[in-house]
Amino acid sequence: YEAKVEQFENLGQIGSGTCGQVYKMRYITGHVMAVKQMHRSGNREENKRILMDLDIVQKSHDCPNIVKCYGTFVTEVNVWICMELMETCFDKLKKKINGPMPENILGKLTVSVVKALHYLKEKHGVIHRDVKPSNILVNKLGDVKLCDFGISGRLVDSQAKTRAAGCTAYMAPERISPDPSHPNYDIRADVWSLGISLVELATGVFPYHNCKTDFEMLTKILEEAPPELPNDQNFSIGFKRFVSFCCTKDYRYRPKYRDLLEHEFVRRHEHSMVDIPAWLRKVLITQTKAASLDRCGNPMQGNIAS
Ligand code: ADP
Ligand code: MG
Repeated sequence: YEAKVEQFENLGQIGSGTCGQVYKMRYITGHVMAVKQMHRSGNREENKRILMDLDIVQKSHDCPNIVKCYGTFVTEVNVWICMELMETCFDKLKKKINGPMPENILGKLTVSVVKALHYLKEKHGVIHRDVKPSNILVNKLGDVKLCDFGISGRLVDSQAKTRAAGCTAYMAPERISPDPSHPNYDIRADVWSLGISLVELATGVFPYHNCKTDFEMLTKILEEAPPELPNDQNFSIGFKRFVSFCCTKDYRYRPKYRDLLEHEFVRRHEHSMVDIPAWLRKVLITQTKAASLDRCGNPMQGNIAS
């Protein structure tokens, strides 16, 4: 059936991004979900066709590392994407923590994201195109899942797909300056973005943070040595190697998912015991690191946000 706007009760805004807003909504059945509303580009028919394409991929509910999509529809002004409601994203967690994120959490994140990207590629031939901390979500159970695949590239501006997207910051060198003999970048562009995201979360600082303009940043991505994990923060050798592997500037030498799945860092965390729910609770009740964590990193009494 086709869902209608009237069948949704808006429970408030969750977030907003470059291409629209995300709301918490209750559907007529009582089910509470996250609904992403994006301004339409192109005509209604064109949008419908793209959504139908995406639907096939998004309704594949057999990958536990991908945020479930319940359905999509086009209204007069918007495109609605109804999906599984998660607790928060890693971009917001980073801002809350305002410092380094534990390696074992990032190990679990890496396993989930690599599996999700590998699944999309193998099962649907899809490249994500927008891997970044705000598209990596976590729920109360501690499940880490990837969302927003393919959408940014297809719905936002079907004319100028790859060039447009506001998010240049995580873009691989070959997307900024395409190789004329290989104008279509491949999945390894997503591997680069994963590496950049890991550096950002592990250190708490975006690797190209001190750039004044987009142009300066793109120039740095192209011309400077790739980002890496610093030596003075006790990251394991395996983690450092994994990140450097992902951030290989020349995509021809960058790993593919099979290589990543066999990497010692992924293997180590595939079955590691990490209490993500407990960590999440701790982060979410904390106002700011400086204000409300004691020296052991535990929330202090009387300084806790509700
Ligand atoms: P962007 O990813 O570019 O920041 P989005 O519009 O995709 O912008 O998402 C905005 C925010 O909404 C995200 O940062 C995330 O915290 C939140 N969000 C998106 N999807 C969900 C979801 N399924 N469940 C919970 N929160 C979500
Ligand atoms: Mg997003």
